[in-house]
Amino acid sequence: MKAAFLSILFIALFSQLIGQEISIHLEELTTPDYIKAVEKSEKTCLLPIGVFEKHGAHLPLGTDLYIAREYASRAAKQEYTVIFPWYYFSQINEARHQPGTIAYSPELIWKMLQETLDELSRNGFEKIIIVNGHGGNNAFLNYFGMAQLSENRNYSLYLFQPDYSSEKIVNAAALTPPDKYDSHAGKSESSMMSAIVPEAVHLNRAHKQSGADLDRIKHMENIYTGIWWYASYPNHYGGDGALASAEAGKLILEGIADQLVEVIKTVKTDSLVPALENQFYKDSAEPIKTKQ
Ligand SMILES: [Zn+2]
Repeated sequence: MKAAFLSILFIALFSQLIGQEISIHLEELTTPDYIKAVEKSEKTCLLPIGVFEKHGAHLPLGTDLYIAREYASRAAKQEYTVIFPWYYFSQINEARHQPGTIAYSPELIWKMLQETLDELSRNGFEKIIIVNGHGGNNAFLNYFGMAQLSENRNYSLYLFQPDYSSEKIVNAAALTPPDKYDSHAGKSESSMMSAIVPEAVHLNRAHKQSGADLDRIKHMENIYTGIWWYASYPNHYGGDGALASAEAGKLILEGIADQLVEVIKTVKTDSLVPALENQFYKDSAEPIKTKQ
């Protein structure tokens, strides 16, 4: 009798345990589950970053939000970590002439990102991986990453940088005709969006505007100017979205998620970056004592 009761209790507890998978999404966690999630993730979390901006005439304004979040959730389902909710405080000054662009000031995007990281750290995360879905952020995020060394931090920041030459991604590109200017809202982004949220994609409108590179300042060699993108793509559209396919998009997403899984594993076991940072902070406090 006692044994039967215990086995029923065991089954009940076991099934409850299986049924209680902890969510990968920060916004879905209760406070007690949040504490478990910080431990389960080995104090590692993902911050996917997107933006609201025009994506040709055929993709939604939130395209980069969808894509960055999709990379993150596909990866976190394979290697547990916690994903920060929709984050859209990005560098997007080059598209301020287009309707629907939400361009916060440079000061605000800096502060928003710094305080988001500080708050994640204050709440227990020690390693934060940024998953960037917006090309306009590339220079900003590299500089931001370097600027973390300006003062002592009690977390490490890692920036995921996908390798588009991986086999899965090259195979995906081969499923569709070549896109000469495949960049913003071009074939690849349109393929991924066709796989993620097909009801928000309108490939039949992709030719309403040109996504060709006008290359208007090509005579200015060895010169950088912030207007370079507008000089090339005033429609804020680069490539040909009509060439997209959902099947190719699925393969690209799988390929990038595979890479992100490896990055999460590497970051979880990494003790070198935090150790180097701590040594650096120590040395920086008294540079005069740094051995010459
Ligand atoms: Zn985009």
